[in-house]
Amino acid sequence: MKLDDPAEFAVWAVISSGKVGEFRRWMALRKKTTELSIHQIYGQALKMREPVQLYSGIGWEEVAPLLESLPTFVEPGSEKVSETDLFPGPKTPFCAEHRLYHRGGTCPISTGDFIRRGIRSQE
Ligand SMILES: [Zn+2]
Repeated sequence: MKLDDPAEFAVWAVISSGKVGEFRRWMALRKKTTELSIHQIYGQALKMREPVQLYSGIGWEEVAPLLESLPTFVEPGSEKVSETDLFPGPKTPFCAEHRLYHRGGTCPISTGDFIRRGIRSQE
């Protein structure tokens, strides 16, 4: 996305260590690729127990329902919400009111410049 596009969102989570295979199968289906390529893309993050991006390009109203029905391989309580493709790291700006990791200085929910419902498919 370009910097001046309205914000769209992503859900991240840490994968439970005993459920990595379950995650690989889920993500391979979702991205229409092989479990091997999922391993190649996410292996390092899984080893470091960093959050991985489960859903991206979603609207703000779609975030809460996804958080309520997370896949069973998610480590409980590890889920985070950010702007799409923005890693929710310790130095990433965070809005406590909306529990959102965001780009730049202002939370996009406060400025109103965000997508409410998904504008594109996951493909
Ligand atoms: Zn906010």
